[in-house]
Amino acid sequence: MENAKMLSTGLREECGVFGVYDLDGNDVSTSIYYGLSALQHRGQEACGIAVSDTSGPKGRVASYKGLGLVHEVFRESKLDELKGNIGVGHVRYATSGSSTVENAQPLVLRYMKGSLSLAHNGNLVNAYELREQMEQEGSIFHTSIDSEVIAYAIAKERIHSKTVEDAIRKAVKRIQGAYGLIVMSPRKLIGVRDPYGLKPLCIGKADHTYIMASESCAITSLGGEVIRDVEPGEIVTIDKEGSIHSSFIRHEVNHAHCIFEYIYFARLDSHIDNISVYESRIKAGASLAKSHPVEADLVVGVPDSGLTAAKGYSEASGIPFGFAFHKNSYVGRTFIKPTQKDRESSVKIKLSVLDSVVRGKRIVLVDDSIVRGTTIENIIRMMKQAGALEVHVRISSPPFLYPCYFGTDVPSNQQLIASSHSEEQIRSMIGADSLGYMPIEELQNMVGNLPICKACFDQKYPMLVPDHEIRNLLE
Ligand code: AMP
Repeated sequence: MENAKMLSTGLREECGVFGVYDLDGNDVSTSIYYGLSALQHRGQEACGIAVSDTSGPKGRVASYKGLGLVHEVFRESKLDELKGNIGVGHVRYATSGSSTVENAQPLVLRYMKGSLSLAHNGNLVNAYELREQMEQEGSIFHTSIDSEVIAYAIAKERIHSKTVEDAIRKAVKRIQGAYGLIVMSPRKLIGVRDPYGLKPLCIGKADHTYIMASESCAITSLGGEVIRDVEPGEIVTIDKEGSIHSSFIRHEVNHAHCIFEYIYFARLDSHIDNISVYESRIKAGASLAKSHPVEADLVVGVPDSGLTAAKGYSEASGIPFGFAFHKNSYVGRTFIKPTQKDRESSVKIKLSVLDSVVRGKRIVLVDDSIVRGTTIENIIRMMKQAGALEVHVRISSPPFLYPCYFGTDVPSNQQLIASSHSEEQIRSMIGADSLGYMPIEELQNMVGNLPICKACFDQKYPMLVPDHEIRNLLE
């Protein structure tokens, strides 16, 4: 149980993965640095880069990882030391209890077939069982993250498989859960997406350089073009000729793309599964204006996560859109702060209200979600202190009721304000004049026909979640 608990708390994370293969043989560490910087919103706790030279000795990998933001961990001199034309990188976001450098990625395994470097975004639901099984067989784990289970499973299968793709195909048959994976073998860059398509992954190209990334913003920020999304259950390989090989994990399941990517996680300029994140948030705001209209003078969004839906609300309602806040971008995300007290004070440090904008006005305040309720409560108080007459809160997602087992950092049920309070109770606790959430039936409209996982709102998980996972989260 101790182990399960440790493993479980160490798992809940939202991360970003990035991989590059330069066919001309140029060093890629700087490109990975910039790619990871574009994915920084997906994880600010730790990051790492592993590179190799495809024409050098097989299995030689140079890697470095550390705790902190990409620009804090990697100085120019460090990047200069990382020589190689193929590489993977990772940014990590984890909850408390596991912020050690050992748990940072990419993981680099050296074994009889050379080396294997792996960057993983997502969470497995059967990692505990697999790890126990592997430990009984003699495996020694160096981290408390489930990604190591995947790396070991691949390395083990590789010994008896003809290709690394075959090994991946066999290994992922044993794992259950969500994964966007990038694997670097001595001569190949391989991307793998779980059969449900829970986690995003796409491929792109800039001249003779191939790129794989959690989000398209990391490809376009390097001046590259997006080729396409990796499909659910697909294994995509880039080899030294620059050919893209595709094969599939045989696992018949219904696709279930995480809707929270569109609601909150992903960067505004990304396209995931051919859908613009920006457009999906505009639609969310517009549908909120229809389902929860109100008489008001100004629509404002909580920076940055509520701004686009606020614009959508304004367009659909005809109420003018405005900026009501100054955001200090040099402070980390408030959600990260481990204790409630830290979280409360850091909202103020991060945001201040423009009193000349809100004074004497009836305001519609839009945010993407309420988790514990801390952010919105503090913002409403600040707005009223600045002279706002009324604050009508509109949330561009349904009430957040159930934990996520697939890698979204969500606190336990007790901390999810909506799971223990009615909407009217929440309205009164946060001090809003009215409160309206997006109706769950409207959620699908954000992304057209794309099949989605919305289990955090309706508890319909796309796969079985083991009991101990549930127990750990409820504790
Ligand atoms: P809270 O203050 O706990 O209600 O958190 C709500 C704020 O956190 C909202 O402004 C969201 O944009 C943001 N948020 C929602 N889900 C997450 C998540 N999984 N990780 C980080 N931030 C989140």
